[in-house]
Order: sequence, then C-alpha cells, then structure tokens
Amino acid sequence: MSKRDYYEALGIERGASAEEIKKAYRRLAKQYHPDFNKDDGETEKKFREIKEAYDVLSDPQQREQYDRFGHQAGSTGGAGGFEGFGGGGFGFGGIDEIFEQFFGGMGGMGGRRRPRGPEQGNHLRYDLDITLEDAYRGVDKVITIPRTETCPECQGSRAKAGTSPETCTSCGGTGQQQVMRNTLIGRVMSTQPCVACRGEGTTVKEPCPACSGQGRTVKERKIEVKIPSGIEDGSQLRVSGGGEAGLRGGPPGDLYVVTRVRPHKKFKRQGNDLILEMPVSISQATLGVELEVPTLDGAANLRIPEGTQHGATFRLRGHGMPHLRGSAKGDLRVKVKVNVPKRLNPRQKELLAEFARLSGEEVGLENKGIIDRVKDAFSG
Ligand SMILES: [Zn+2]
Ligand SMILES: [Zn+2]
Repeated sequence: MSKRDYYEALGIERGASAEEIKKAYRRLAKQYHPDFNKDDGETEKKFREIKEAYDVLSDPQQREQYDRFGHQAGSTGGAGGFEGFGGGGFGFGGIDEIFEQFFGGMGGMGGRRRPRGPEQGNHLRYDLDITLEDAYRGVDKVITIPRTETCPECQGSRAKAGTSPETCTSCGGTGQQQVMRNTLIGRVMSTQPCVACRGEGTTVKEPCPACSGQGRTVKERKIEVKIPSGIEDGSQLRVSGGGEAGLRGGPPGDLYVVTRVRPHKKFKRQGNDLILEMPVSISQATLGVELEVPTLDGAANLRIPEGTQHGATFRLRGHGMPHLRGSAKGDLRVKVKVNVPKRLNPRQKELLAEFARLSGEEVGLENKGIIDRVKDAFSG
C-alpha cells in the first residue's frame, strides 16, 4: 500500500515548525476544500489526504510517533494506525469546522453554530450547617431549595393545554438559518440560530399560563441529604439530578451540598483527630489522677501520671473522628491545662505555705522590711 508521506502531502520539510504546518494546511485547505471545488472526487481525495496529514502532524504526540514509525505508527498498539484517529472514522466537517480551527473569534466567525438541542439544567449549590456531632455520627437532613422544574401543566412544551408548539415557519423546524458571510477566503454560507424561534425550531401561539410559556416553574423542593459520618468542613456532596430542570428535554443539573461544620465548644478537629483541652489542678498534676474526659461517644478514662506538666498531651486512641471511608477512627488528643487556684481559704493557704517552706521556696507578698529580707537571705 503506497501512501504519501504526510510531510510531502503538505509540501513541507520534516523539520517544519508548528506554525509552518498550520500555514501549509491553511493554504492547501483553501485550495482543495470541497466547498470551493467542483465535486470531482479528486479534490476531495486530495483534501482528505491534506486533512489527515495535518491532523497527525499538528499533534506533537502523534507527530513524534509518525516521525519514528511512519504510517505504521499506532498499528502495533491496536489502535489501527493513524486512520483511526479522530474517533470513529475519518471525515471532514463543513467549512465551519475549518474556520473555527483557524479564524475562531475573528471577523464575526466565532461562536459554535450547533442546532439547539437538549441542554442540561444548571447546577445548584447549598451550604448546609451541621454540628460536629452530626459529622461524627452522620445524619440525614432535609433541605428546602427553590429550583426551576419542568412545568407540570405543559410538560415543558411551553404551550397552553390542548395546544402544542408549531413548527417554526421561518426555519422549517431546524432552528437554524443560513446566512452569507464575507470571510478571508471569500463569501461563504454559514448557519446560525433561527431569529424567529431563537433556535427552538418551534413557536408557541398560546403560551401555557402556568409558566407564562417558559416551560419551567420555580418550586420549593424538599430534598433529603444523607451526610456520611466523618464528613469534613467544606466537603461537597453531589445529589445527582437535584439541580434545575433541563431545557428542551435535557437532564436536570446536579445539586452540590457543601457541608459547614460549626465550631465545637470543647473539641477542635485536626484531620481525623480531635483535640481537647483538659483543665487539672496543681495537686492533680503533681500527684496524678484518673480523670473522666468527654468524648463524642460518651466519657472515657484518662490517667494523668504524677508530675504531669502544663501542656502535656495524652492520646486516647480511636476516640477521634471516623474516617470518611473505612471503619477506622482518629484519636482524641487531650492537652493538659494546669490551673492555678485563684481563691484559697486560710487553711489552704497555710498548707501551701508549709509546702513552699518544705521546698525551700520564698512565697508571699507581705510587706517585709528591708532588714527582714536581708535576714532571710542570709539565714538559708
Ligand atoms: Zn407550562
Ligand atoms: Zn425558526
């Protein structure tokens, strides 16, 4: 099978730059495009050849493959060689496709001119406030959202009951009209949405009164949302089809529920761990104590050993937040906060002063005379 070399087909050197490839294709496409030539089969063949060469050489990856393996490239990979590129058979679009490749957005040629088919409805977003307990256990919430839905009276047809939309007489129902345009390569016909029916292809004589001929109405809709345990602040849950109604029979959009976990009075969250600040007294920190600490699943016991310092952290394994996936749980990290007593009765003061004396510490703020202080300093 003899097939012309892609570089030869485009009349360029093997080392041609991307810009040179584009230029060559542009020049040859103008020359051979079937829209500008008599249908003699020869120019069409030629055009296909140019188009194929361009498709491959303008894609850096495919070009590299081609440079290395020639026309055999890709055939070992099971893709069937280059002819298979472009998805399901080779072909060339109308003049518009080529124009969009080269002149997109220039001189009024921009925009995609497609018939107005079904269109998916808009996605919606709902911010849902939940507590840390909700996030811990998971919760089912019912939220109320206003959203557009297909009008139940006319089923979205926009026409009053008993009537139906009529085929647009201007475009014969195609939703498109042909216009002549002046372009860089001369006057060409192109299509645009029909002005009379705004691309719908149909017109409505008597609009549906329920939706004023819109085909959609706004409804307050209750939607149940399942919040999985372990969910984080800012997580997004997608409710498929929970968004606004589609257009022209298109599917509805989705609803995105963004969870906002309110700050908790006791626990701070760090990933799957929870942090709890636990106040203990000087005596407890000094002598040790077994404490009951709150967790999100009831109380747990924590041993504070003798001589625990302020700021020391203890880890209670498995008392943190559940992982969103899987059954594991994070830890509860208890940070000890040693409280200094503010009000003591005389007896307590007496005992603490005694303690200080035994430790050889100077305590108290009584107005001692300078002589006493000097005495104290030398008496130790
Ligand atoms: Zn209606
Ligand atoms: Zn029309």
